[in-house]
Order: sequence, then C-alpha cells, then structure tokens
Amino acid sequence: MSGEMVCVHRAATVSEADIVTAWLEEQGIPAFVKNRLTAETLPIETHLTRRGVEVCVADDVTAERAKSLLSEHDQKVEELHPPPVDDLLMDTTCNECKAVLSFPLSSAGSTEECPNCGGYIDIPEM
Ligand SMILES: [Zn+2]
Repeated sequence: MSGEMVCVHRAATVSEADIVTAWLEEQGIPAFVKNRLTAETLPIETHLTRRGVEVCVADDVTAERAKSLLSEHDQKVEELHPPPVDDLLMDTTCNECKAVLSFPLSSAGSTEECPNCGGYIDIPEM
C-alpha cells in the first residue's frame, strides 16, 4: 500500500462518485472513492457540491488512462443529458426584498436566510 493516490474525478455526490468508480472498474481501472466517509456523514448535498467527492486511482499512469477515458465518457454523457445542476435548483422569491433566489431542491420545506437582505425565506414543499 502506498499513500500515493491521484484524484481523477470530483463528483458532486457520493452516488455519482460510486457510478464513476464502478464505470472505471468496468474499463479495467481500479478506482475508489477517497473521502467517502466524510461525504456520507455530511447531511446536506449542497456541501458536497461545493467540496466534491474525489474518485481516486493508485498512481499517475493509471490516472492518465482514467482521465482520458473519463473525458471521452463525459462528452458522450453531455450530448445525451444536459448537466444535472439546473434540475436541482428551484426559484423562490424573498418575501422581504422580492429578490428571486435559487435554492437546491433538497431545501424544499425548510427556511433559508436571504443572501440579499438577510431575511428568512420559507422554501415551499415541492
Ligand atoms: Zn431578501
């Protein structure tokens, strides 16, 4: 076991990281999720989006192969599906300042602070 791990992909969520890891292994590249435990204990997906969940391989040579496979794969996926980020946001109007703000769907039914005026915004249930 060497401690040398090379990050080849930064996923938004643990499940995305799992999909990428499984896909790389199908291509014959041993991969693993580096900060899986940290990611799973974080309750809010928005934290994951900011920090990411790293998919790693054991060394630089493997990383080069993984990266080129992933970039080919990403291009194909983007042609088929638009980036998923837009689907995860919903527009909510602040009652105080009338600013229109986007919140992730995961905050539906909760109360958030308005970044514009600092007031509370009730995010409606979907
Ligand atoms: Zn406001």
